[in-house]
Amino acid sequence: MYQLLLAVCINGDPALCMDRRLPLGEEMNMMRCMREGLVHAQKWADDHPDLELRSWRCITPGKAPKPLEDFAVEEIGDGVFVHRGRHAIPAPANLNDTSNIGFVIGEEGVAVIDAGGSAAVARAVLFHIRERTDLPVTHLILTHMHPDHVLGAQVFRDAGATVIGHRKLDRALKARAQTYMDNLRRLVGDEGFEGSAIISPDEGVEDTREIDLGGRILRLEAHPTAHTDNDLTVLDEKTGLWFLGDLLFAEHTPALDGSITGWTARMAALSDREVKGVIPGHGPAPLDWPDGLAPMQRYLASVTAQVRAAIALGTPMAETVRSVGEEHRGDWLLFDEFHPRNVTSAYKELEWE
Ligand SMILES: [Zn+2]
Repeated sequence: MYQLLLAVCINGDPALCMDRRLPLGEEMNMMRCMREGLVHAQKWADDHPDLELRSWRCITPGKAPKPLEDFAVEEIGDGVFVHRGRHAIPAPANLNDTSNIGFVIGEEGVAVIDAGGSAAVARAVLFHIRERTDLPVTHLILTHMHPDHVLGAQVFRDAGATVIGHRKLDRALKARAQTYMDNLRRLVGDEGFEGSAIISPDEGVEDTREIDLGGRILRLEAHPTAHTDNDLTVLDEKTGLWFLGDLLFAEHTPALDGSITGWTARMAALSDREVKGVIPGHGPAPLDWPDGLAPMQRYLASVTAQVRAAIALGTPMAETVRSVGEEHRGDWLLFDEFHPRNVTSAYKELEWE
């Protein structure tokens, strides 16, 4: 497979130039690309009258920039792509590539769902988008505030995307920006963290909102406090695939940063939605719905019941954290990193009931 690499400039402004990749289809070879390239490049230039074509050449699609050469993106439905983050704590070797990221290609534009845990991760996603289409990235949708989902946002804004989140996202990010930046820079290292930033969304979703990508509608929905107080989901109406962000965890221990009763109630309310499949914030995708929810529901229900019982018996928090939920250890990855915090958080919430 070959591609055209076009050098284009904004008309009348030679200072504003950029590369655009033009996918040519599976059957293209180097000879044909050299022979037909000018025709394709000229046609593309005709379709983009605001841009001036400076040069073109044939290239083979390369690999994403180091150290994310093995960065993979999978098409899980027509025009719907997912990159699976690793189950790991942020480190220089993974550049905080620790959460799932999606993108959806319409007839007129591309929407990215979550920005990745660093600018390097976001650049790898953008690289894979450009392998598949030269349409503009019109929207970046952030599912919630956590750093593994937002720190690459500036890369997509620079690419022209409008950044959208829950109406409460901006306030939540502002309150945590310095902590997130300091912690993640320390974990990932200065070099790997370069370009990563917490930015304010351009628009907040109050309740629901539709985005038209041309021939396909994305339905955004803001939720009451659950995993966090700023959870937003994205349904691709064309395929029925539903991006749940961290409202759903699979394999990776759930991380509670909102309300355990709120989260439990919200997931029960969403469980009868009729969708084709769901994409969790962490774990394999797509999952069946609501079957994919069952393990997390069991975990939340069990932690809630055991913490309530401990509080009723007057068990101190530290002892509750040590004793509650051990039987779930074998079911979840990164259990020691997240489970004790969940119990602490649940205890603080439930002792006021
Ligand atoms: Zn999260």
